[in-house]
Amino acid sequence: MICVSIGRGRHRHVIAEHKHLADNGIQLVELRLDYIQGAVQVKRLLADRPCPVIITCRRPVDGGRWEKSEEERLLLLRTAIVEGADYVDLEDDIAMQVPRYGKTKRIISHHDFHKTPPDLAALHKKLTGLNADIVKIATMANHPTDNLRMLEMVRASKVPTVGVCMGDIGMPTRVLCRRAGAPFTYATFHDDRVLAPGQIGWRQMRDIYRYESISTATRVYGVVADPVAHSLSPVVHNAALKEADIDAVYLPFRVPAEQIDEFISAAGRWPLSGLSVTIPHKESILRHVKTQDDLVTAIGAANTLAFGEGGIAAFNTDAIAAVESLEAALREPDAATPPTEGLGVKTALVLGAGGAARAVAFGLRKRGVDVTVASRTLERSKKIAAEVGCKAVDWTARYRLPYDCLVNATPVGMHPNVDETPFDKEHLRSYMVVFDTVYNPENTLLVKEARAIGCRIVTGVEMFVRQAAIQFKIWHGREAPHQVMRDALKRATASAKQPV
Ligand code: NAP
Repeated sequence: MICVSIGRGRHRHVIAEHKHLADNGIQLVELRLDYIQGAVQVKRLLADRPCPVIITCRRPVDGGRWEKSEEERLLLLRTAIVEGADYVDLEDDIAMQVPRYGKTKRIISHHDFHKTPPDLAALHKKLTGLNADIVKIATMANHPTDNLRMLEMVRASKVPTVGVCMGDIGMPTRVLCRRAGAPFTYATFHDDRVLAPGQIGWRQMRDIYRYESISTATRVYGVVADPVAHSLSPVVHNAALKEADIDAVYLPFRVPAEQIDEFISAAGRWPLSGLSVTIPHKESILRHVKTQDDLVTAIGAANTLAFGEGGIAAFNTDAIAAVESLEAALREPDAATPPTEGLGVKTALVLGAGGAARAVAFGLRKRGVDVTVASRTLERSKKIAAEVGCKAVDWTARYRLPYDCLVNATPVGMHPNVDETPFDKEHLRSYMVVFDTVYNPENTLLVKEARAIGCRIVTGVEMFVRQAAIQFKIWHGREAPHQVMRDALKRATASAKQPV
């Protein structure tokens, strides 16, 4: 069950959101009395309620907004019980000051906004001893292992327990607590109006992560990165899992560089079935793998891991995705240019010398294209040139030679810097194929200017969907629903406010 927390200043807004949620099938809401401005009318909030409620009134020390006296707060909680609230949330230090009465169930809660305490079992035991019907523990995750300890505590508990970690490191626990046996999880009314760090909106919880369908058998996949909060991989992969009706969920795992070894070593405790890997882990992850495909060996970086009985297998799907995207675009006939067989480009200029540039340069070289890499930091492009067998030029030399393919593998033009382009339009030529790996937005300034003069275009959306689709096939052994993934990505980038 998803419990949606409502934190609004006015009673009528609380009541309206409550009704809206019940109309949309939500079966439990938390009414945060500490958000209400002025005198709180508990009776009004409970009258004719369209679905069961948890009454909560948090002090600032527990992440709330209550500014009045503690006496008034306790009185409010007792009033809620007398008025027949379905549940009341009582922090552990006040739990015994508010007696059980009637049918109201007691949620005994503990919050720690700084850390996840070392002995969760002892904390849990203390809370169950406070006349609890449900135990709730929400603590800050500073380390991915905090999540595991939390989920293991939920799994071991005899009393129904909601155990979640806060912050973006802790986000996976909000979804996976169901898999560990939690009676419900908390979500917010709106993605942008979070009441605690790491919370997500109920629609994301229900429609993207499919919380209600998670069971102990659900397999766990995800993207490991730092930062990870704005990754669109969860949107794309979960859309594909839903379409293919696969019992699996795909989550964002924020893992700082210095914690990656411990995270991978503990993979069996989640347990993880597969991971997408991105900055800053693509290279360091290789020390954990048992097998790797030829592309990983050649490129020296992996973007995909599959966890099996025989160990971890590593793959690189970026290079194939880049070449396939280019091929697909060139196969598509349009009015300006006749259809081209094969890759159809002889020379390519790749802008940038990071992971994306390396994968694209490698993929193109494999197909016999004469590749030149231009980057701000010449040493980085020289390194790629030596490894891949191509040329390197200084950033300022990028306009010197004619190329029939231009690839942007820098973040220039990415949201929010949508007015920037890495290649001045004066130097674009209509015979060029222009491939921008940036996918947010899809129509970058470079893409728009190149399209305006009749260039063939390949967008980052195409590459992103294809690299994810190859991952899907590696993990699930069947073709990915490309169009569903493409649509999900386009919807997400259309509504994204942050860089990804
Ligand atoms: P990365 O490893 O950080 O490399 C970024 C490269 O861009 C570096 O060479 C960097 O130069 C250069 N750069 C950064 N800002 C620049 C600027 N203002 N002007 C000129 N050069 C600049 O990142 P990455 O993993 O390669 O990713 C690069 C971009 O590729 C991403 O932003 C993303 O949009 C895109 N991408 C797309 C896909 C897809 O599937 N569509 C997949 C991966 C990446 P220095 O070395 O001098 O810092």
